[in-house]
Amino acid sequence: MTTKLKYVADSEVTLSELMLPSHANFNNKIHGGYLLSLLDQIAFACASKHSGEYCVTASVDTVDFLNPIEIGELLTLKASVNYVGNSSMVIGIRVESENIRTGKVKHCNSSYITMVAVNETGKPVKIPGLYLTSENEIRRFVKSLKRIEMKHHRREEFHELDFTAKDHIDKLKKYRVEIFLT
Ligand code: GDP
Repeated sequence: MTTKLKYVADSEVTLSELMLPSHANFNNKIHGGYLLSLLDQIAFACASKHSGEYCVTASVDTVDFLNPIEIGELLTLKASVNYVGNSSMVIGIRVESENIRTGKVKHCNSSYITMVAVNETGKPVKIPGLYLTSENEIRRFVKSLKRIEMKHHRREEFHELDFTAKDHIDKLKKYRVEIFLT
């Protein structure tokens, strides 16, 4: 366990991989589940580098598949620590794919994964803080804070004990649902 501060650059990770037919789905595009597995791997590497501990995945925030990834493209994932709490970290990951022949690069995905550093007995441990050394690093930290706030707010707003369905039924009229309360 260590509690000193570290630079974002010290735990940045990049992973490049050629997309093979074995990674594709029935439509010849790369399977979303395969990409999720790569996201989790790089998040683990980045979080473990920052914390100096083994890390576990706590949550995966907004994984939007922006562009399909084709067989034969070179996929690059770039990860860095966006935010640190006591034992948790948000790892931001940008995924781009490159057509080898044309050199055209597509932005395929940006994801934010929360990882927690744990000790030998699986208990969360305190991790180093962050030196923020650029506008971008400050922006990403504040953006993570906002995401965390929104998540807490959503959890409170939709807590089972405080939620009353009739306050929301009108909003559902434009959706393809019929409501039968039993
Ligand atoms: P942003 O989070 O608003 O900056 O959105 P982006 O799509 O540009 O990037 C998503 C995340 O990927 C960022 O939060 C960073 O954590 C990570 N990232 C983006 N660019 C780089 C890079 O050049 N190197 C590394 N290591 N990580 C990057």
